[in-house]
Amino acid sequence: MTEFFEVLDHDGAARAGELRIDPPVQTPGRVEDRVVDGGSLWTAAREAPTPDASALTIMPHRGFPTGTDDRLVGAFPPAGADRAGATAAVVTAGSADAVEADVYIPSDLPGKMGHAAAVVEAIVDLRRAIPADTGIYLAGCADAMNVAMLAYAGVDLVDATAATAAGYDGWYQTAMGTVVAAELTERPCMCPVCADGSGPLTDLAAVAAHNVHALDTELRRIRTAIAAGTLRDHVEMQARVEQWLTGMLRRIDHEYGYLEQRSAVIGRATIRATTDDTLRRVAIQRYAQRVTDRYQNRFQNPLVLVPCSARKPYSTSQSHRQFYDAIDYRAHVVSMTSPIGVVPMELELTYPAQHYDTVVTGQWSATEIEFVASVLQRYLTENRYPRVIAHVPQEGYRTICEQVAPNVDVPFTYTVSDHPTTQASLEALATELAGDLRYTKRERETKTVQAIADYQFGRGVGDALFPRSEIELNGRYPKLQVCDAEGTQLAVMVPQYGMLALSLAGANRWQQVVPDAATVQIDEFVPHGDVLAPGVTDADPAIRPGEEVLIDGPAAFGIGRAVMDGEAMVEAERGVAVDVRHIEAR
Ligand SMILES: [Zn+2]
Repeated sequence: MTEFFEVLDHDGAARAGELRIDPPVQTPGRVEDRVVDGGSLWTAAREAPTPDASALTIMPHRGFPTGTDDRLVGAFPPAGADRAGATAAVVTAGSADAVEADVYIPSDLPGKMGHAAAVVEAIVDLRRAIPADTGIYLAGCADAMNVAMLAYAGVDLVDATAATAAGYDGWYQTAMGTVVAAELTERPCMCPVCADGSGPLTDLAAVAAHNVHALDTELRRIRTAIAAGTLRDHVEMQARVEQWLTGMLRRIDHEYGYLEQRSAVIGRATIRATTDDTLRRVAIQRYAQRVTDRYQNRFQNPLVLVPCSARKPYSTSQSHRQFYDAIDYRAHVVSMTSPIGVVPMELELTYPAQHYDTVVTGQWSATEIEFVASVLQRYLTENRYPRVIAHVPQEGYRTICEQVAPNVDVPFTYTVSDHPTTQASLEALATELAGDLRYTKRERETKTVQAIADYQFGRGVGDALFPRSEIELNGRYPKLQVCDAEGTQLAVMVPQYGMLALSLAGANRWQQVVPDAATVQIDEFVPHGDVLAPGVTDADPAIRPGEEVLIDGPAAFGIGRAVMDGEAMVEAERGVAVDVRHIEAR
């Protein structure tokens, strides 16, 4: 609970916010010259300082060396804070819930720097132990190289102590790495220190000042990346600078539940897939998981596996138009792709299936082959087909199909001799489907909105929400409108994200037919504009940012899009919880 710290934007577990002191500090940001330290209780009994409107006041504290036994830490609970100003409490993950503060300072972390697993565990444990709308200040650790990874893990505030100390030791830091300042031949920086002269830096105070500039520059890049939704791209690059940062990225990715809870189901930016790290992103893993867990194939026809296209959505590409002509509504089409895995045709618009950009070289890494093969195998285990026609090129794709085929209970045939778009290959594909029945365009569109409903709301929801006999479709794909038998609109398809936006009638129906529909309970009021977090009395913890949610309270019912995850809505005392689309008074 805090009135001096506010999270204004999220990019996964990273947050952009503001420490409300005068003047305010943008986060992720550097705070040390704005701190009043209440001092150590080990050396003297101390009174808490009087809060200062222009500073973050650190309550008198007891720090513990890294590795101190929990029982010893527990014997000295953190001092309570006077909440009249912005306050910080020095804690460990284990002691954090004993004190209310705006900002929490982990005392056990500095000794762990350089140890990827320990740093990730400490940040994740602390973030889980404190309210979502409070800050983490990691004191004495940040430099231009590691600060992006710290912010990505959820750190809000840092200081320049470590960067300054490195400077006095003669180390010249930039985001790209560390060199000996006295051995510089050119200064790769245009900060005032570096611009004033050339060649080696021998004045250690100047090296330290440069290191602080480098840290501040990197903090600006981080805030810019969060605003653009591209921090993950930034850290995949930044992880290459030091070995332990690569380790830290892998460790954070292993905390999948932590990242997934905080990651929006739709993204602002195109995913630039350039490394194997990309395969572990939440957006990629979540799509693969939902396609195999929630999606179900509704077609009786054979499955045709095709390669992805650079152009998105796939069906607008030259190659896919040729495939669809040959298939002529006689097969279900699933595209194979790295880094997404498999994309059923109904979900080709659904985030992130049309929101990624990858280097097309025709060569697959072993990691890519393993990932796509595992998703395809899960997909074919969950979905029944009479047979599979693999209309794929030799490299990569065929290898994957031949790996998966023996492990699944469906026969495979291959229709490409040289390249998928040659006349011979397309004719082989058409011939293979010669005896199969056609489905109609209307059938395909109905199954598309049902499939998206499964993907978005859960397995089986497509049939419950939009039973085939009870709905009408209007509009042209991809701008489909789902109406009930009386013509009342239930939902529209949003082509940009391949998701459904429900109307009030659709929301009512969702609540009736799906008992565990994602719901945000609100107090007795009718929201005008957005639902703010203080108005939320309860929320489904499974809600993720960007998802459709029901808004339900004694005085109002409505539908909107979640801005925070479900747990954060309940904990937060500030900020927009739900972006309201339709609301009605009861
Ligand atoms: Zn410089």
